[in-house]
Formats: sequence, C-alpha cells, structure tokens
Amino acid sequence: MNKCGFQLVGQKKLDDIGVMANLYRHQKTGARVLSLHTEDKNKVFGITFRTPPQNSTGVAHILEHSVLCGSKKYPLKEPFVELLKSSLQTFLNAMTYPDKTCYPVASTNEKDFYNLIDVYLDAVFYPLLHPYTFYQEGWHYELENPEGELSIKGVVYNEMKGAYSSPDSVLFELSQQSLFPNHVYGFDSGGHPKEIVKLTYEEFLSFHKNYYHPANSWIYFYGNDPEEKRLQCIAKYLDKFSSLKINSNIPLQPNLNLNFKVIKQFYSASSSDDKSMFTLNWLFANDFSPEEKIALFVLEEFLIGLPGSPLRKKLIESGLGEDLAGVGLESELRQAYFSIGLKGIKEEDISKAEEIILSTLKDLSYSIDKNLLEAALNSVEFKFRENNTGAYPQGLSIMLKSLTFWLYDKDPLALFEYDKIFQNIRKKLKEDYFEKLINALFFQNSHTTKVILIPKLGLFEQQNLEEKEELRKLKNNFTKEKILEIVNLTKALQSFQQRQDDPQDLAKIPTLKLKDLDSNVEKIPCVLKQLNCTSCFTHHLNTGKIVYLDLGFNLQGLRDRELILAGMLGKLLLEMGTKKRDYVDLNTDISRYTGGIYPLVLVDKHINGKPLAYFWLRTKVLESNLDKLRDILTEILTEYDFGSSKRLEEILREQKSGFEQSFIPSGHSFVLRRLKSCFNLSGVIEEYLNGIEHYFGIKHILTELKNCPEKILEDLKKIAQKVICTNRLAVNLTVETQYEARAFDIVKQITKDLNVGNITKWPNFSLLENNQGLQVSAQVNYVGKGYKLDTEFLGSSLVISRLLRTGYLWEKVRVIGGAYGAFCVMDIFQGEVYFCSYRDPNHIATLNIFDNVSQELKSLVLTNSELEKLIIATIGELEKHKLPDAKGFESMLWELKGLDIKRRQKIKDQIFNTSLKDIKSFAQKFDFLKNQKIVVLGGENTLLKLKEASFIEEIIKLN
Ligand SMILES: [Zn+2]
Repeated sequence: MNKCGFQLVGQKKLDDIGVMANLYRHQKTGARVLSLHTEDKNKVFGITFRTPPQNSTGVAHILEHSVLCGSKKYPLKEPFVELLKSSLQTFLNAMTYPDKTCYPVASTNEKDFYNLIDVYLDAVFYPLLHPYTFYQEGWHYELENPEGELSIKGVVYNEMKGAYSSPDSVLFELSQQSLFPNHVYGFDSGGHPKEIVKLTYEEFLSFHKNYYHPANSWIYFYGNDPEEKRLQCIAKYLDKFSSLKINSNIPLQPNLNLNFKVIKQFYSASSSDDKSMFTLNWLFANDFSPEEKIALFVLEEFLIGLPGSPLRKKLIESGLGEDLAGVGLESELRQAYFSIGLKGIKEEDISKAEEIILSTLKDLSYSIDKNLLEAALNSVEFKFRENNTGAYPQGLSIMLKSLTFWLYDKDPLALFEYDKIFQNIRKKLKEDYFEKLINALFFQNSHTTKVILIPKLGLFEQQNLEEKEELRKLKNNFTKEKILEIVNLTKALQSFQQRQDDPQDLAKIPTLKLKDLDSNVEKIPCVLKQLNCTSCFTHHLNTGKIVYLDLGFNLQGLRDRELILAGMLGKLLLEMGTKKRDYVDLNTDISRYTGGIYPLVLVDKHINGKPLAYFWLRTKVLESNLDKLRDILTEILTEYDFGSSKRLEEILREQKSGFEQSFIPSGHSFVLRRLKSCFNLSGVIEEYLNGIEHYFGIKHILTELKNCPEKILEDLKKIAQKVICTNRLAVNLTVETQYEARAFDIVKQITKDLNVGNITKWPNFSLLENNQGLQVSAQVNYVGKGYKLDTEFLGSSLVISRLLRTGYLWEKVRVIGGAYGAFCVMDIFQGEVYFCSYRDPNHIATLNIFDNVSQELKSLVLTNSELEKLIIATIGELEKHKLPDAKGFESMLWELKGLDIKRRQKIKDQIFNTSLKDIKSFAQKFDFLKNQKIVVLGGENTLLKLKEASFIEEIIKLN
C-alpha cells in the first residue's frame, strides 16, 4: 500500500499499550516512519538522526543547540524560545545521546501540535547555522580589547565545563568510555572542554550535511490525530530530498580481555573530608532480544533496585561508603553494560568493597531468593505497563524505548508485547535462568574495567590557573592582526546576540489564538461519599486495570514538635518494619504485589486561609491484587513497630543528608517556605513538616537518640496513635467504574480496624518575624522577598507572574545579573506575592529589582498580540496535561481547598480577559503595602554584608 509517497512496510496492533502501529518507508528518500494511533490526546512527534561522533569535540551536541537558532522559513534568533512563549506544548526539547540526536515535541492541541512540528522540521532540515551561531553555541575566543585577557566562551563549552566539574558525571563518562576503547561510545558526544576547542566551523557544517538527511532519519508519531495529516505534513519536507547513501551504522565493540583494567583519575575536592569513589564495569557483548533485555531490567531491579536487593544491602551495610555509585544497567545503547560501586569510600577500602560485590554476585550465581526475584519481576512489569512518566508524555517514553531497537535496524515494536514477554520470563523464575545469567554476564566475561576517582584539594583552582596561563601564552604568540580579529569578532558577536528580531519574521512563527482554546475549565469527575467519619473521593478515569488509592491523614491540631515527628511518619511506617516482620520482608511484599507505596507530606491552604496539612500514603495496584494491598496497608497502619532505635537512626541520617544535599540545588524552595512562614500559619506548619525547622528537628532528635532513645520511640508511637484514625482520614480513589465497588470494599475493611480519634483546633503559632539569612557553604545565593498586599487578586495576576518571570525578571536577574533564574509566586486569595532568584551571584541588586516590580508594571508597554501569547501560555501552564492518577489527586485537592468549579471558572475567565489595565491596577496595590520580608540562603560573606546593610537581622547556620 502506498500513501502520499510512503510505503506501508509493517502493521501491528499492540493491545498491551493500546496502540495501532503503522510502519512506513518514504519511497523517495528511505526515511523511516513509525505512526502510532491511540486515544491519548497528548500527541507526540519526534525526528531522530543517527549521529555517531568520531571524536569528543561535541559536534553532535553543538549542532543540537544550533539548529534551533533560526531556519530558512523561521529566520529568528531563537524560534525555540518563541515557541515556549506562546504554545500549549507539553514537551519541547532536544537531546544528544552517544549515537543519536532526538527532536521531540508534544501537545494536546492539534493545531498547536502541527505548528510545533513545522518549526522543528524546518529547523533540522534547513537551519541557518550562521558562523556566529557556531561561536555562540560551540566555542570562540573572547577579547574585549587588545590589552584585555583572552578567554574561551560558548554555551556548550560552558555546559560541559560544568558537567566535567561534577565528580558524579565524570565517573559516569569514564566508566562508559572505559568499556569502549575502539568504538564511537568511547567518545563523549556531549563534548570534552579540551576537545571542543578543536572543532572547526567547517567540520560542524559537514556533520549536519552528512547526518541530517531523511535517509538517516527515524520519524515518530503518537496520539489521536489522523494518519493522512501526519504523512502529508512530513512529505512536504521529505519530498524535496532524494535518496543518499549514509554510513552511520553502530558496530559492536569487539570483546577484549580487559580483566578489570584500572582507570584512575583525580577530581577536585571541596573539603578535606571528601573521599574516593569507584565503579566496576562489565560490557554485555551481545545484541539482546526484547525478552533478554527485559530480563536484564529484572536482574538490575533484583540486584540493586529494591530495599532488600542483595548487592545494595551488602554494600550499604558494609559501612564502607556513603551511597552506591554507577548507573547500574545502561540499556539505551546498542550494547548494554553494568556499572556498580560506592562513593564516599576511603581509597584503601576499595578492594574490600570489590570483594563484597564479586562474592555477592558469585553466591547469587549459585542460588537466588525466588521471592525477591519475583518481587523484582513484578516491580519491573508494573513500571512497563503503567508507563507513568509523571510530567513526561507517555508517547515520548514509548518513542525512546522503541528507538533502542529501531535505531539498530531491528523491530521497533517487539518490545511492547508485554503479555508474551513477561509470561516467558515468569516461567524462567522457576528454572535457574537468572543464576546462569549472572554467571554468564559477570563471570564468563573478561571485558571488564575498574574506574577510581580520588579527591584532590584545590584541583579546580590549579586547573583554572593552568588554563589562564595557557591562554596567556597563546595570546602572546598571536600576531597583532590575529588579536584585532578576535577583538572585532567579540564585538560583532555581541551585536549579533543583541539584534532584535524583525517583527515580520516574528509573525512567521505559527501561534494559537485565544479562540483556539477551550474557555471552560476542565471537569474531572469527583464524587464524595462519607464512610462514617471518613471522606472518600472517587474519580472515574481511564486507568485500565490499575487502581490508585491514596490515604491521607489530617494533621490539624498538632504542635511544633508533634509536627516534626508527624513529618517523618510516612517513611517510618514503611521502613521501620512491623510486629510481624522486618522492613526488608515488608518491602519485598510491597514490590511483589503492588506498584509501590509512596509517602508524601502536603501543606496547603483553604481559600479562606485556613491551613491544610496531611501526610499521605499513595499507592497503586493491579485490581487483581487489591486484597494483597488491603493486607499490607492494614499491617502498616495497625501493626507498625517503632521499636528499633538503630533503624530509626539509619533512616534519620539518610533524611538529614538528603536535606543537606538539597540546600544548594533547591535553595529556592527552602527560601520560599521560610518566607511563607512570615505571612501565614500554613507556612509555619510546613516549616515544621518539611522545611528548615524540620531539618533542625531531625538533627535534634539524632542527638536525643543517644541519650534517651526510649522517649523518642515512645513519642513517635503516640503521634502515630493520635494521627492514624478514621476521623482524620481522607481517602482518594482513582479507578475505572467496573472496579470501584471492590476498591471501596477494601477501603471499608482497612478503616474498620482503625480508631475513631478526634481532631482539635490548631494551636496559636507565631509567625516568623525576623528577616533572615540561612547560611550554607556556597558561592551562589537564593534571594527571596515576600510582600503582603491588601486584597485578594484577580486571576490576571497569574498572567502577571508569568510576564515577570519570562520578561522583567529574566532580563534583569538572569541575562544581566548572571543568575540561573528568578520567579514569582502569587497567592491570589490571600494577597501575597513572593519573589525568589536561584543560583544568584548577587543579593542587594536582586532585592532592588524585586522592589522595582511595581514601577516596571506601571510603565509597561505591551502589544495585544504579546498579551494574547502570555494569556495562552498562562492557560497552558495552569491546565498542563496530567495522567489519570495526578488528575484524580488534583481534583481532590480542589475539593479540600474549597476551589469549586464556579470559582475555578471565574479565575479562568479573569485570565482570558486580562487587560493592560488589570496589570497596571495590580501594580498600584504595591502602594498600599502592608508588610514585606526577606529571606536569603547563601554563603557567609553575602549574609554578613546583608546584615551590615540591615537587610537581614539574623543569620542561621544550616550546616
Ligand atoms: Zn546542551
């Protein structure tokens, strides 16, 4: 069959993932097209090129950045950024892998979807690839004036310098490269800073010419849009090319006798406490069938994925290191490999850890715990079938999975026959298949390496000095002409970057109009039933055979220390074990019979301002295992055992180090929470449950545990007794209609064993009064400021917060200030506004920028079409596509918060009708400011300066 120049070469109905698949060849060029039809509205398109690098200059990565900087039909500075501003996209990005480059887009709106595809197709086939784009995205010498200091700049150059300064990513790269000494996978497709500077513009252009051709492309569609439209839309581009012979095959790495060949390197330590890290690595030489590949996933889950996994447990319990290192199974390349080790280990202990890894694997090659293996199999099967990717479109995850076969000229669909595959693997559980597999992969295999990273203080500083010295020498050897050329280039590049897009070109980017959007708010089915004193919310949604059940316990009325303990409850219930068995056994059963039980603490506000605080146990399970879930939940809720202070200490230590690791990447969340506690009660409560107060609480309890462990354990028990009762319980069920009755029955049985309990009023907490500095050892700051304005806001304030984030704050805090970014959060019911910057080199300057927001808004000029784009993007963000479990949970939260459909519609109407006048009148509210507060997380020097200048009154040391 032939359609629009495409020949149908395969067709399959895949019941396991609910799609009808057509596989085509474009006759003129040989382009491959996989077209999947499903009911899912979240449509996905992707075009992928096979791009094996021949060196580590990062050419594939630089090209990935550069094709998105203007094309023939859309000759703009950054069409990509324009799309982000005005589209309803649910995914828009590009990714470079060791052997491929992918350009995926997704949207639930069909018109928007095809707009995105057109811009992307023009970008990959007809990019402008201006030399200045290469300098900007790749690398260039920079020199402001002939006497100045020579430096190297470039977006990818800087990105990869960042990557190579993280020991974890160096360990990953080295481990992978060590296994592929004569192979494309032995290069870094992202680029090594030392190699990037060897890339020329001509090589860059010819890489595009060689590989970005339809004959070397893999094109993918997924969703509910018509086939004809798909084929016509790509034919417009493909038909302009003729066939071409392209050699981009990925060969197999020949098997070598490496026998744990040692690769040793230094990394830059940040303190003298830093320790070494290492991995052992095995290359799995074969091409695997889909079934063999899924068996590898099961093996990985069994070895390190579960709390009771033998390799994980042995390594952690050895106390030799702080955490596992290595990626485990790497399965996205043509050849899979396995990488495991420890970080935070003393160099002299590495051989002991190796011994543990090898002897554990050896024991397992003789005999495996079948219960644990079955738990691993079920856990992998559940993940594959559910395909719950959170915010990531499901169609995209199917594309990436199919490419792991398709790209190597194998059937892209065979992997998705889950019924058949998992049945076969299940049969193998009874045989000694996995024992033999371990023996073959780990012991009949000498293609193995060992990678060690050793800390060295001051390595960065030393490398920076050397680099400066090299550049200085280089400059000395340049002729006068060459120096002048660089100065001129630096200037020319700056004006190239500052050029404004021609409004006529800007208008070429296809955008949606407000009339293309649904003006009604989304309705999510939600029925509230009362089960004695428990509220049960039910949502009938398309979840297949999976039942999502959330149990939430209201924490109202708890005092400070009680809240700190309650914030730990979810994790302790799952990880302390029960009166019947230890936590390993319990968790094996959880993986064996369910899709997991996840603890969550959530603090919010009713629209009337009253705090809402719950801890949740969120679960998912196949309907056939509902009875098992009931037994497990009943056991957890009624037979918990908080008896072991040793286990409690292990968990709390892990929690504490989790907090400490997140101070830097997530400083803005800590600042925002802290700021909220200056303005409202729910902010104070969240601090105890989840914030800095909680962190101090954990530290305090860890010291108390040394003196009087019995008291802590007793207190925890009391809190659990107080909170786990039907009076405080809210149940949330997201389920297909046909399974509702059974699921509801399970809920009844679980609740019948619980106490009734009672709820008291919130005590009188006091709000945080001082402006504060939170001190960590960091070179960057997170600067936050909150304002209490006098009234509740209109929905249009959400448009304003987006306007500020993508406009004023972006420009001032990021582009000029050099921070990674800044954002603005509005509490529309309570009239609160919060600003926060992240990874900010500045502090006082940023606070001034926040203070000028009102002036900026008052003098704002905005065209109608700019305003329309903003409104569309605000709606897109507000109504971002969600999977059923997330939808059910969100609609329950609306109910708890009192956000009924009328109120939500009113907010959406206000967003739709936002005018420039609304924006200006919002700005005037700042004139009647009631209250403002500052919280900054940063290094000692910053905070001392802020204190000296009276911006903050108090400095609190975090670690
Ligand atoms: Zn990049």
